[in-house]
Amino acid sequence: MNTNQFGTVTERLDRNHYETDVEQSHITVDQAAARAADAGPLLVRICPAHVYSIQADGTIGVMAAACLECGACLAVAPPGVLSWRYPRSGMGITYREG
Ligand code: SF4
Repeated sequence: MNTNQFGTVTERLDRNHYETDVEQSHITVDQAAARAADAGPLLVRICPAHVYSIQADGTIGVMAAACLECGACLAVAPPGVLSWRYPRSGMGITYREG
């Protein structure tokens, strides 16, 4: 585990505050495009917050409430797979460090 005088990565991430937008997800997946591009494993691997998962039926699950808003998934997703925007004002993550 990565530990320093500020605590573990998990402890430091736990200090952040999340305001979940229960009405509108800021991430949506075009399941047909994702299936055609076999994008699921890539999204699962790239996301540091484990937002993406591959469901039993092969579709990609999205737990947008955990998103760190880093943009990594948007940078690597094949064209047309993801619709990603920042959460609505006041929603999403508020960092407690940096
Ligand atoms: S923006 Fe970052 S944290 Fe959010 S879903 Fe994409 S890769 Fe995961």
